Formats: sequence, structure tokens, C-alpha cells
Amino acid sequence: MKPGEDAPAGAERCSLCGELPVIRMSGPDRHLCAAHLIADLEERAARTIRERELVRPHDRIAVAFSGGKDSTALLIILSRLLPAWDDVSLVAITVDEGIAGYRDDTIRAAEAVTKKLDIDHVCVSFTDLVGDDLDTLLVGRETQACSVCGILRRKALSQAAHNAGATKIATGHNLDDEAQSVLMNTLRGDLPRLVRTSDADSHDCFIPRIKPLADIAEKEIAAYLFVQDLFPFLPECPYTRHALRAEVRSMLSSLEQKHPGTMRNLIRSKRTIEKQVDRSAISEPLRCCLQCGDPCSGEFCQVCMLRKSLGK
Ligand SMILES: [Zn+2]
Ligand SMILES: [Zn+2]
Repeated sequence: MKPGEDAPAGAERCSLCGELPVIRMSGPDRHLCAAHLIADLEERAARTIRERELVRPHDRIAVAFSGGKDSTALLIILSRLLPAWDDVSLVAITVDEGIAGYRDDTIRAAEAVTKKLDIDHVCVSFTDLVGDDLDTLLVGRETQACSVCGILRRKALSQAAHNAGATKIATGHNLDDEAQSVLMNTLRGDLPRLVRTSDADSHDCFIPRIKPLADIAEKEIAAYLFVQDLFPFLPECPYTRHALRAEVRSMLSSLEQKHPGTMRNLIRSKRTIEKQVDRSAISEPLRCCLQCGDPCSGEFCQVCMLRKSLGK
């Protein structure tokens, strides 16, 4: 139903103004109209940033901007919050992994959004980083797609952020992503990764990473973009079907439907464990990669180990 239309008798109304609602939110349970949904999401992102002190005066924030829905919402929300901050600037960074039939469309969409928002935009590619695109690197090892891609994307992003003079890297991870990660790390028995706090990457050698949308559900982000006609209708990455995350994602979303609050509870459990665990006792101390000098926990960093296994 469109705003302004008459609702059938007995229909739900926005909990704040009586307009027709576009979404039912959980935690707390309420209905919101388009205008109040937009205001609610922007206020919650602003609160996350304020309470966790994610942005400081004079920050230059590199936004990991794939052109997909989460990073599009992140860029729009940060650009709207920007005027309230003291001397903070944004630069959007898009990593072109080189995935045929997928990345070209999203890069075009990314360029259109940054142009409209008047934000600096940098594009970097896996080919620049390791000399080959992801499709070529993955021949015969498709099931490792997400881990190979993740390692290289992280490196490409850090490098581009460093070159752009960034002091923070912002990513569009949402509540669903966070809950999926908790469950995946648990299923893998990866305790060090499970208890790595969201700001654990903020070691001196790294540019700190921030997740301003970590408390916002994926469906709320989709609705936020949809009601503003900003939802990017783009193909899904063809490699995701190989990933454990795809299974965890569908399982968790069906659990969340039947038992609202499941995802928040998972994240809460993780935070409780995090506080109890002595992280230095379970993870290796950081040192410098013997090959490239980047900070890592073993002798060589993940990128150098990957390069070696790829014969690069
Ligand atoms: Zn309303
Ligand atoms: Zn290295």
C-alpha cells in the first residue's frame, strides 16, 4: 500500500504517526511508515557510531562500497550524518574481484551512486593486486571461492584505504551478517575468531574497521532503500552457493521468522563469552609477515600464503 492510501478497517498503522506502515520491526515490536523507518534507521546508525565512538573529528572514512544493498545503505546514511561531524570526509572504495556476469553491473551501479552523492570513488582490482582476476584464480578450486576472495578483498581494501589517506574503514555488515558469523565460527570450532571483538582489528598496524549497521537487520536495510527507490536490483555473486554462509543464512533466517530475536540472542551470547575470555591466551600474538612485512599471527600473512599456494 502506498503512503496516503486509505487502509482497510482494522489494518495496522504506524506506531508513531498513524500513517500506513511499510514494515513490522522486531525488538521492540512495532509498525513503521516509510518516513519513520528512514528516520529510525538513520538514528540507530548514528547511535551505534556515537556510543561506540566509531567516528572521531578529522577522520577520513573509507567506505567498502560494493554497490550492493548494505554498502549502498551505509554510504547514504554516512553521507547524511556527515554534516553533523567535525571535519570528517568519506571516500568510497570498490574492489573489482573480476567475476564475469556479476561485477560489471555492480560497478556501474556503484559509480552512479557515488556520483549522485558527490563522494570520491576509488576502484581497485584483483588483477592489480595479484595479476589475475578471481575467475581465473579459482579454476579447479571453486569451493574455496569465499575464503580466497575474502583474503584478497581485505588486502585490496586496506591498500586502497591506506593510499586514500583513510583513518577508518567502514563496512556494511548488518545484524544478520554478525549473527551468521557467530554461528559459523561456532560450527567451525574457531574460538579465536568467535571472540575477536568488532574492534579487534583496531591494532596499531591496521586501519581500524567500523560497522555502523551492525545493529540493523537485513530486511530493515532492504526496506530503507526500497521506500526511497534506491534498492540496487543486482545479480547475486555466483560463488555464494558454494559457501557455508549460504546454508547458515537460510537456516538462521527461518529460525528468526519462527522465533523473533534469535539473531540478537546469538550476538548477545558472543558478547558475553567475549567478556569472559582472555583473548591473549587463545590467539597468537601479532608479528610481521616474513615475506611482505604486513601484520599477521603466523610467520607469513594470509595473502602471502595464498599467493604461494596459487603459484603467484
Ligand atoms: Zn509514521
Ligand atoms: Zn605477507
